[in-house]
Amino acid sequence: MKKILIVEDEKAIREFEVINLNRAGYTTVEAGSGEQALEIYESEDDFDIALLDITLPGIDGFELCKTLRSKSPKLGIIMLTARTQEMDKVNGLMLGADDYITKPFSPSELLARIDSLYRRVEMQSKKEPVGNMTLGEFTLNLRRRTLAKSGKNIDLTQVEFQIMEYFFQNPGVCLSRTDILSRVWGDQYLGEEKIVDVNVRRLRIKIEDDPGSPKHLVTAWGVGYKWVV
Ligand code: CA
Repeated sequence: MKKILIVEDEKAIREFEVINLNRAGYTTVEAGSGEQALEIYESEDDFDIALLDITLPGIDGFELCKTLRSKSPKLGIIMLTARTQEMDKVNGLMLGADDYITKPFSPSELLARIDSLYRRVEMQSKKEPVGNMTLGEFTLNLRRRTLAKSGKNIDLTQVEFQIMEYFFQNPGVCLSRTDILSRVWGDQYLGEEKIVDVNVRRLRIKIEDDPGSPKHLVTAWGVGYKWVV
C-alpha cells in the first residue's frame, strides 16, 4: 500500500491533492492542521510519504517537518510552498524534508514528484542487506542504513544515506551536482540542483567537526563535491 499523509488547511487544495493521488493509486489520510497531523501520526505511523503545506494555522509546516523527521528518519517528506524565496525552501530542507513543490502546481507535477520520492523510499525498504563499507574513521552500514564516525552513530535521512552511499563508492572522485541528482533523485527529477547543495550542507553539519571548513565533504569548485577520507 502506498500511503500518504496530506497536511493542508485549504480544503480546495487538499481535495485536489487527494483526488489526484487517489487516482494514481495512493491511499491518502488528510489533516487540516499540524496538530491534527501529529494526532494521526501517533495512532498510525505506517506512512510512506508526508505532503506538508508550509503555511498552516498553529504549528506550521516547518515545525511539523522537524517533528515528523525526529519520529522517523525513513519517512519521505515533501513540502509545499507558496512562497518563492529560496530561503524558505532551504529552511524546510534543512529541517529534514526530501523535496519541495512550489504552488501553484499541476497534477502531473505533483504526481511526478511524489512518484519519484515514493520509488526512492520503497527501493530503500526492499534493498537486501549487503554489509558494511569502511573508509577511514567512517563506516556505512548498508543493512541498517546508518553512518558511524569513529564508532559513533549519525542519523541520516533516506536521501542523505543514498548520497553517502554514492560518495563511499567514489572516494576522492569529483561528483557533479548532476551526477548526484540523477543517481539519488533519478533522471526524471524535475527539481533544481540546489537540493543537492542543501543536502550536502545538512550532511556537513552531521559529519564534519567544523561544518564551515569541511575536511571530508569537500567542495570541488565549479564541479560539485568530493568525499575525502
Ligand atoms: Ca495553507
